[in-house]
Amino acid sequence: MNMITATKPFIPPIEGYTNLVEEIFKNKWFTNHGPLVTSLEKELQKHFGTEHLLLVSNGTIALQLAIKALDLKGKIITTPYSYVATTTSILWEQCEPVFVDISPNTFNADPACIEKAITSDTSAILVTNVYGIPCDFEAIQKLADAHGLKVIYDNAHGFGTKMNGHEISLQGDISTLSFHATKLFHSIEGGAIVCKDRAVFERLKLLRNFGHTSPTTFGDIGINGKMNEFCAAMGLLNFGFLEDILEKRKTQWLYYKENLTGTNYAIFDDGLVDGDFNYAYFPLLFKDEQSLLAKMESMEADGISVRRYFFPSLNTLSYLKNFQNCPVSEDISKRVICLPLYHELTIEEQDKILAHFKN
Ligand SMILES: *Cc1c(COP(=O)(O)O)cnc(C)c1O
Repeated sequence: MNMITATKPFIPPIEGYTNLVEEIFKNKWFTNHGPLVTSLEKELQKHFGTEHLLLVSNGTIALQLAIKALDLKGKIITTPYSYVATTTSILWEQCEPVFVDISPNTFNADPACIEKAITSDTSAILVTNVYGIPCDFEAIQKLADAHGLKVIYDNAHGFGTKMNGHEISLQGDISTLSFHATKLFHSIEGGAIVCKDRAVFERLKLLRNFGHTSPTTFGDIGINGKMNEFCAAMGLLNFGFLEDILEKRKTQWLYYKENLTGTNYAIFDDGLVDGDFNYAYFPLLFKDEQSLLAKMESMEADGISVRRYFFPSLNTLSYLKNFQNCPVSEDISKRVICLPLYHELTIEEQDKILAHFKN
C-alpha cells in the first residue's frame, strides 16, 4: 500500500544538488563559514531586509544562542503550545519557564495571560508563532517596553509569513528560524537568528563560533553553532523554489479548507492572519481526544499518517518542577492533529485524506 506520510521534506532536483556538492569538493571547504554558507546568509539577509541575520546549525541552537546572547536570567514567560525545543532551550540555559495559556482562536500565547504572569523576576517573553500565525506583536512589545523585558520569537514555523510586505522574523529583540527538513523551507538541518541590535548580532557571531575573537583568543563562552556547506547547498537550492513552495502550500491548504468547512471538525480561520500567511500547517480540531485517537487509527489502517502536533502541552512535561495550569493549551493539544501537507502531496491524496472527514 502506498503510504501517505504526515510530512515529507521538499526534494529539489538532484542535479542541482550534485552540482553544488561538486563545487564543495573542488573548494575542499566543508564547514567553518565556507562560500555556500556565506552565499545563503547573504541571500537570506536580502530576503529579510536586514544584515542582522546569522545562519546556525539548527533551530534549537538558535533559541539557546538567543537566550545566551541576551544574558537572560530567572523567569522567562513562554507558551505551552509549541514544540518541546521552545521549553528545553529555556531549561538548558538555566532559566525557569513560566507557562501562560493560549488563545483558542490563534493558538498563540494570549497577551492578557502574559501580562498577568509578569513579576519582578521576569526577564523575557519567549513565544512561538504557531503554525506560522503571527503573535500579537504590538500587544507583546507594549508589555515588554512597560516592564523592561526582552522578547524572543520562536519563528520556526513562520518563514514566508509576511506583514506589510516584511517577514515576521523582524519582530522582537530576536527571532529564530528552523530549516529542518520537515519545515516549509529547509537546509536538511539548519536555522537562523534575526536580531534587532548590532551589539547582540556581534555577540551572537562570537557565540556561534566557540567565542573565537582570533585563532588564538576567546572573548566569550561560545558553542559550535555553525552550518556546514552541504546543508547550505540544500538551502541555496531550495531557496530558489520558495515561491513555488509557498504557492503550492496555499493551494493545498485552501483545498482542505474548502472541503472541511461545514464538517464536525473545527479548522483554523486564515482570515485571522493580518498579512500574508505561509499556510505551513493545516491543524484540525476534534471534539475530544477519544474521537481523535479513533480517527487516527482508522486513517493509519488506510495508509495515512497524521501528526499530533502539538502534543503534549509543554506545561505537562514530566521533568518540570512545579505544575502550572494551562487549560486551553492542554485541551487543544489533546484534540488537534495536523493533516499531511507537503509539496509532493497530490490532490488525489488529499481526496483520500478528506474522505475520512465527510459528515
Ligand atoms: C522545529 C521546531 C524547533 C526546532 O528546530 P530544529 O531545527 O529542529 O532544532 C523549535 N521550535 C519549533 C516551534 C519548531 O517547530
